Amino acid sequence: MPNIPVTGDAAVWLLSQYHDGPCEDAGTGKCGTAATYIGPFKRFCNPCALRRQAKADLADQFRDRQLNFKAAIDAGLVLEETRRCTFEESRPEVEQRNEYNYAYLRDWTGGENIMLYGAVGAGKSYAARCVLVKAALDFGWTVSETSGFRLISESKSRHWDKGAHHVDAWRTTRLLLIDDLDKAEYKTHELYYLRDILDRRAGNNRRTIVTANMDMQGLHEHLCRLPGVNRVAVDACLDRLAPLRETNMAGDSLRWNQLSGNPGSFNTGDAK
Ligand SMILES: [Zn+2]
Repeated sequence: MPNIPVTGDAAVWLLSQYHDGPCEDAGTGKCGTAATYIGPFKRFCNPCALRRQAKADLADQFRDRQLNFKAAIDAGLVLEETRRCTFEESRPEVEQRNEYNYAYLRDWTGGENIMLYGAVGAGKSYAARCVLVKAALDFGWTVSETSGFRLISESKSRHWDKGAHHVDAWRTTRLLLIDDLDKAEYKTHELYYLRDILDRRAGNNRRTIVTANMDMQGLHEHLCRLPGVNRVAVDACLDRLAPLRETNMAGDSLRWNQLSGNPGSFNTGDAK
């Protein structure tokens, strides 16, 4: 049985390289006919049998991944609506405005963390969720998602210390999406919780995608300006996102620096 370590487009390519040899019984009509001596099974020539087995393996693998993904949704680790976020169904007008970003995200192989920043309505969250779905189904990665708001509300609950399932998932799933990382009023001790998550992820081959209205430099300044937050805590936190690729998503709305020039003031009344 062929062992196929890769999936998606790469697997289809491999199949075509190694298992797409010509049918040895081509033209004879023998391939795929009933093999009377072993019951109801059909017999196939070697290339055809390998090809069928490889396809069946891929189908099994894909079904397992879909089940795992559904389990993550059922467990509240992934939002139900994320299921509908796929590159296949992304809005063409959003993709057109972000042609290079989408090409990058579609081709992302998990080598670095991603920060998608831009105005509200630019499609950051949607694009980030497309990557999440791709990682779950094409790579077979464990995935989970949260937001800046949710991190803070959880840090006020007892879930954190008790090692609740979702908090543990944020620390350990191969991919974590933190939506609207900048839209929460962190305090220094709450940054500790964010750092706790990112600490556990760093150096363990885990990847994190964050979305925000501002780029990393803007986010750094924004966090440093929040009352009671000190720069050392901010540095300790954001450093854990390296290696990071920052990607600016264009949108219909104006960018924050055109609105106010002050990232700090952008944090209020900014409904999704
Ligand atoms: Zn054949």
